[in-house]
Amino acid sequence: MDRKEACRRLEVCTGDITRLQVDAVVNAANNSLLGGGGVDGAIHRAAGPELLDLTRTLGGCPTGEARVTPGFRLPARWIIHTVGPVWRGGSQGEPELLRRAYRSSLELAVEKGVRTIAFPAISTGVYGYPKLPAARIAVSEALQWAQQFERILFCAYSEQDAAIYREVIEEFCQ
Ligand code: ADP
Repeated sequence: MDRKEACRRLEVCTGDITRLQVDAVVNAANNSLLGGGGVDGAIHRAAGPELLDLTRTLGGCPTGEARVTPGFRLPARWIIHTVGPVWRGGSQGEPELLRRAYRSSLELAVEKGVRTIAFPAISTGVYGYPKLPAARIAVSEALQWAQQFERILFCAYSEQDAAIYREVIEEFCQ
């Protein structure tokens, strides 16, 4: 697929990822998969306690990998839980691990027949990954997979974060 068509499949939205009507939402989880703050907390609250009942049985998830669960009470059919790296200055393999988190999520989504998927800005909250380089990784990896999806959404939590994604998409898609 050409770059232009791949670019058309990327979208930026602003707000709470738990409200989105997509086949799968991605959760920026931690290694325990037992819930936490930020987007992880919001997803657990919105999905309901059945989610924790299930993630307790999964045995956690290494950084850069992904696991899938049903969406339970979310509009989304699936939740793909992935673990991004904690930012430790950038020379501890963070870019590769962040890319792997996106890739593992997209791979699992393809396996599940997902056609529309929404990502939060993995690692850019409590984990401290700078937002612009994180968005470049997110967008460049998504472009590699766009052929296999109808839509890949970047769900920013603020207008400022949405502007970063738009800028990066412009960079890759001009
Ligand atoms: P991490 O631990 O991977 O850094 P966080 O949840 O702390 O994960 O933050 C990841 C990103 O998710 C941040 O940019 C934060 O602003 C955003 N975020 C927090 N809550 C939500 C939500 N309900 N929907 C979408 N994005 C959210």
